[in-house]
Amino acid sequence: MTTGIHISIKNKTYTTADSRQYIAIANFKLSLPNDNFICLVGPSGCGKTTLLNIIANLDIDYQGEISLIEQHSPPKIGYIFQNPRLLPWHTVRENIELVINSHQAPEIIDSLLESMQLTEHQHNYPEHLSLGMSRRVSIIRAFAVNPDILLMDEPFVSLDAPTARQVRSLLLKLWRQRPHTILFVTHDLREAIALADRLIFLSASPMSVISEIDVTIPREDRNNDQAIESFRQQLLNDYPTIKTLL
Ligand code: ADP
Ligand code: MG
Repeated sequence: MTTGIHISIKNKTYTTADSRQYIAIANFKLSLPNDNFICLVGPSGCGKTTLLNIIANLDIDYQGEISLIEQHSPPKIGYIFQNPRLLPWHTVRENIELVINSHQAPEIIDSLLESMQLTEHQHNYPEHLSLGMSRRVSIIRAFAVNPDILLMDEPFVSLDAPTARQVRSLLLKLWRQRPHTILFVTHDLREAIALADRLIFLSASPMSVISEIDVTIPREDRNNDQAIESFRQQLLNDYPTIKTLL
């Protein structure tokens, strides 16, 4: 088998509160290369979070198969949820130490704190952090385990535009230091274009892949709003259905 992520979900149902079976995903197939930054874009409720939970092995109640072919077997998976999920009774540093043995590697935590510009806040408790800072802590926590695959579920929703831009560029900086696969769910097409090697557009339920598009803007131009905007306009002209997914 070739390397990469191979997803084949025959059927994933939820039992609803009134005991009905709700089909969340059916006959969904997708293959992705390793070490790419991939953005998944699709309407609310199409099954993106369900898909990430299945890939992360948090949800095993489905029919189908996920093959994650990496150098490390099984691959290490990091997961950044939409809500940062920090433990309120631990400081920033302690929240990171929960996933990594700091006696072995205090300098790894130091360098991650520095690259996310959180060194000065490492002894603060989550209630004293802004949302942007909390998001940065959750990114550090995911990177600290050195994941082969990093799953990110709309991680920058409700950040103001300058903060989102700053966190995106810090994320890309960390990603460049060590190549690995990122699956990043977003509703924001500009954000997706700024980050991704490849965009995967997903339809409303039943979820299927509508198109896969490689972002050809060079990495050094991803901070250029003009370049992002003209790629976006071209995309919407070439694929009008994408408008209905956002
Ligand atoms: P997305 O992340 O794309 O917005 P989700 O994966 O969260 O979509 O959900 C897909 C569908 O499954 C939605 O219709 C949602 O209401 C339903 N769903 C998600 N979780 C549950 C659950 N625990 N019980 C019942 N239905 C659920
Ligand atoms: Mg979701």
